[in-house]
Parts: sequence; C-alpha cells; structure tokens
Amino acid sequence: MTSPTRTPSASSPNLPSLDDAWSPDSWRTKPIKQDVVYTDREALDSAINRIRDLPPLVAPEEVDKLRDLLKDVSEGRAFLLQGGDCAESFDYCNSSQIEDKLKILLQMSLVLIWGMRLPVVRIARMAGQYAKPRSSSHEEIDGKKVLSYRGDNVNGIDPNDRDPDPQRLLMAYFHSVATLNHIRSLVNTGFADLHHPNSWDLGYVKDDSARDHYKAVINSMLDSISFMKTIGADQSSEVLKTIDLFISHEGLLLEYEQALTRKALNPAARALLGKPATIFDGVESPPFKPKDFVGHLRSWYNLSTHFLWIGDRTRQIDGAHVEYFRGIRNPIGVKVGPSMAPEELPRLLDILDPDNEPGKVTLITRYGASKIEKYLPAHIRAVKATSHKVVWCCDPCHGNTTTSSTGYKTRSFGAILEEIEKSITIHQNNDSLLNGIHLELTGDHVTECTGGSENLCEGDLSSNYRSFCDPRLNYLQSLDIAFKISKNYEN
Ligand code: PEP
Ligand code: MN
Repeated sequence: MTSPTRTPSASSPNLPSLDDAWSPDSWRTKPIKQDVVYTDREALDSAINRIRDLPPLVAPEEVDKLRDLLKDVSEGRAFLLQGGDCAESFDYCNSSQIEDKLKILLQMSLVLIWGMRLPVVRIARMAGQYAKPRSSSHEEIDGKKVLSYRGDNVNGIDPNDRDPDPQRLLMAYFHSVATLNHIRSLVNTGFADLHHPNSWDLGYVKDDSARDHYKAVINSMLDSISFMKTIGADQSSEVLKTIDLFISHEGLLLEYEQALTRKALNPAARALLGKPATIFDGVESPPFKPKDFVGHLRSWYNLSTHFLWIGDRTRQIDGAHVEYFRGIRNPIGVKVGPSMAPEELPRLLDILDPDNEPGKVTLITRYGASKIEKYLPAHIRAVKATSHKVVWCCDPCHGNTTTSSTGYKTRSFGAILEEIEKSITIHQNNDSLLNGIHLELTGDHVTECTGGSENLCEGDLSSNYRSFCDPRLNYLQSLDIAFKISKNYEN
C-alpha cells in the first residue's frame, strides 16, 4: 500500500537547522511523501539488513571527483549532460540496451563539446533509476482499482503484482551492480575510444539540410581526431581513449538509500593520511587527537550512486528527503517546478549546501515551455541573492508531458527544444548561465515523443511505444537536441 504522507511522532514544524545532529536515519523523524508501505515489516528488515552488508557500488573517490567536476560546471567551465530512462526496468539490464544508452550519451556529448567548446560532464540516469513517485497512489485498470506501479524495485507493472515486495530492493541492488559492471567494462576497454567512434545512425533524418549539417559536424570531429593521431598529438593523452561516466538516480526510497550510506575518509583526510577512502584502520587510535579530529576525517557518502536527486514531489523543506540529503557528501540535485516558491529556495540551499560549495547542488528546473518565463527569472533572482553557487540544469521533459489524441502519454520535440532555448535566453537576460540539461532518453528507436528530424507524428506513436512510465526521446531525437543546442552556441 502507498500512503501520501507518513507523519512523524515528533511535533511539527520540524525544520532542520545546521546545528541539528544528522544521522543516516534522522529522516525517519520527519514527514515523508511518496512513502511505500510494506505489509511484511520483517521481510523488509531482512532485505535491508542484507543490503547493508553488501559492498558499495561506487567509490567515495569517484563521488568526490564528480563534486570537483560539478564545481567547474557551476562556474561555467564545463557543461552537464544528464540523461536516461524515466524508469529503468530490470529487463533493461542487458548488453545491447546498456551499450545503446552509453553510445547516445557519448555521441551527444561529443556534439556538445564540439559546438560549445567546453568539456562535458556525463551523468547517466542508470544503474539504479528504479523507484518512481506517482501523482496518485492507485489507478484503475480494466475497471479494477489497483495500486499504482512504483518502479521495479517496489512492485510489478503487471496489475496482479502491485503489492510492494521487499525482495525487489535486493533485486534492484543486483541489477544496478550488473548494469554498472557492464558500463565500467565498456568504458575501460575502448567502447568510448574516440579513435574508433561508434556508428552514427542518421538514416531516419528526413530533412536533407539537417542531414548535411549533421554529417558535416561529425566529419569535422572525426577529421580532427584523425589529424591529431597522424601528428602524434594524442599519444600522451588519455582523454581520447576513455571517458568519465557517472551514474545517478532519484533518491526516493530512503530505506534503501540509508542502507548504502557509508562512512569513509574524506579528501582532506585521504591527503593527510595517504590512504584510500575506505581504509580506515588505525586512524581512530592516537596519534590522531584530539578526539573530535577523527570525526572530521570521515564523511557520510551514499555509495549506491555518484549523484542523486530529490524529485519535485518530495522536496519539502521540513520533509524526510531533504533531511536525508543534507547529510551526504555526494553532489545532489533538486527538481524545481512551478510550485517552488522563490522565497523557499534560499532556505533550501542553506540546508542542503551549508558550506557554500559551488556545484554541490544542481537545480534541475522543469516548468514546461509555456511556463518557464513565468517562473525561472524569479528563481534565478532568489538564488543570486544568496552566496550559493548552483549548477543550473534544464529538464525540458517533465513540464511538457501531454496525452496524444490516440491516448499515449507523449511529449513534443518542439516543446522540449523550446524550453531549452528559452532557458538559455532567460539565464542570459538575468546575468546567469544555463549549465546543463537533463533528459529522458533512450538509445533505441522507440516512438514515444513526436517531432524531431524524423518527423514522428501522433499516428506513429503506436509503432514502437515501449515506456511504461514517461515517454523518452529516441536515439535520433536525442542527437537532434544535441545538434540544436550546439548550434545555439556556435559563433
Ligand atoms: C523524473 O525525473 O522522472 C521525475 C519524476 O521528475 P519530477 O520529480 O521532476 O517530476
Ligand atoms: Mn519521468
């Protein structure tokens, strides 16, 4: 069963203050939205205890590396590309789907680097993007009221499989591990080697001039790489051989997130002790005194992923999710939609970024193409009035979801592009900078969004509509977005 809000026993309002003690489970004292209620608490405890014993998925050093990169992004020295499925399904954990998603992210990033002349930080919505918030707890299927599908780590898409099952949390852990393992082996063995670029599939582009432009850009990029190879300028550079690719998901199921929250040496301590983050032996004994000093050497990291974000429905300032997120060292995102009151933003940033670290928080704005002008300027002004330096990232998908005349949940490429372009302009006009984009996409040739250079129309949606959550841009529509953004920045 799902319940909209679980109320804490402590009396409200219960705003976190910087001095309040934080622990990986302090979120349990706060009201929680989008909670999943398990009927079998024993089974839940047993699954969570097992996960608590399993090794972390990522290393603290990788989390800190992403923090440093996002600092560059927040200061305009790099651009963020974040993308992947709305909801991963356990079935997507196969080599071809993982490879296709990596390929589209890699190719989009190359197009962006080329056009913007900036490094691109890549974060996949992958290897853990299972839990979904829903606008209603129940839905009606064939005249029967059933619990809503909440993601593969909670229940099944099959209407007869909607009871939350704690075993699915363990399955989520192992599917994340398998996905990440394949990503790591691809990245480490030449999949992303720019000397051997993957094929660019432009066959579906309908407009000749668009195809000519895309081909010209791709050929220029490949020529430059080959020229560097010819003159030996790439010999000493690892940059062309592999890439950094980070993973992310919405931090929705706090029981799961808590189980993978681990204490590790932070960068200052690692530099001081010359040890990796997870090796802590002997540090707690002298000579590292006074006692308090030891506490400062270690930080809490969420090691289920590099980056995690709070959804638009769970970002209440006095709520459980904000409480959990304020204590972890990972870089974090917050979805920001029309319901965010501008005066709430400074308070939220004070809680989530108490040390004023540039790039610690990414604000992922998602208003809709017709609403962005109304909301974004006030949000930019509210942040500018603080000393927080955020990454401004545009999610042009979630405010532009509609239903087609044929009954499909869809998005139009035109509206998605319009929100991105308006976001770029609004930032410019407000003495700010758009630092990144966040997209729901897939590397396959699905037909879930209309438009793009392939001219998909509503009648085409039924031919390969596969999402059971939000509609995703397909391979070519995703490339289209990268080319269009890139063109915006060309001199
Ligand atoms: C999502 O990113 O899939 C999502 C649910 O977004 P939002 O929280 O912005 O609605
Ligand atoms: Mn979504």
